[in-house]
Amino acid sequence: MLQGKTAIVTGSTSGIGLGIAEAFARSGANVVLNGFGDTMQIEKTRADLANVADAKVVYSPADMSKPRAIEQMVRQTADTFGSVDIMVNNAGIQHVAPIEEFPEDKWDAILAINLSSAFHATKLVLPMMRARGWGRVINVASAHALVASPYKAAYVAAKHGMLGLTRVTALEAAEDGITCNALCPGYVRTPLVEKQIDAQARAHGVAREKVIGDVLLKNQPNKRFVEVAELAALALFLCTDSGASVTGAALPVDGGWTAH
Ligand code: NAD
Repeated sequence: MLQGKTAIVTGSTSGIGLGIAEAFARSGANVVLNGFGDTMQIEKTRADLANVADAKVVYSPADMSKPRAIEQMVRQTADTFGSVDIMVNNAGIQHVAPIEEFPEDKWDAILAINLSSAFHATKLVLPMMRARGWGRVINVASAHALVASPYKAAYVAAKHGMLGLTRVTALEAAEDGITCNALCPGYVRTPLVEKQIDAQARAHGVAREKVIGDVLLKNQPNKRFVEVAELAALALFLCTDSGASVTGAALPVDGGWTAH
């Protein structure tokens, strides 16, 4: 389905990004994996993905908080594969604290990784997509792009910003066969969320299951975590011809959370 296309998926050594990268590789796209982690584990992931569908899979260690590293990743991808057709801005981190106690370095890091990286990458890939008359930018935002929760000032601000960036990108690129959309997941059980469950359980001295039921899934009406595969399937749909008119959209995948 995506033969001949090249996709960069930031933050794809784990969680949602890895699921999307796998779906793209299975569909025949060349994939650039990115993110942090154990070197041997990353190489195993890369080799496994390359085997699933004879896809070409390379790894970039680019730090998404660094504009020059993002530029290098995009340039290397274009040199290796000829273009970037699909850009998935997915890398993200979280920190939970009341505003008065929110560390400034955490604010700066979350804004840089969760929001500014998407701007830098989009700026670099749009000319290549325009030249080919086809492109897909998928921003992995969050239900927190649409609604807020306390203690997540930087994350909610960054995700709301990402939705604004998504809409502007969609408008500016619409006439060139390029779409840009924001996936807005509710809670997905990835390492990012596992850390929050641990932190809340420690902070409140309660069991993890209680945190899951009383805090995380409290606002998610279907009372279950979103599956990574559900998000990967939606990302794949957006890359098909059938997704050509879906652009500038905030796409909630949240079990009804933001219907409240
Ligand atoms: P995760 O922790 O499993 O994966 C995050 C990925 O980002 C990892 O590959 C990590 O190495 C990478 N990363 C972190 N900092 C980076 C940096 N500076 N440069 C490059 N890569 C970096 O988390 P996840 O849950 O899969 O989250 C992926 C995205 O989905 C994030 O943007 C997150 O905000 C969003 N999201 C997650 C959930 C959820 O419930 N898990 C819900 C809504 C949105």
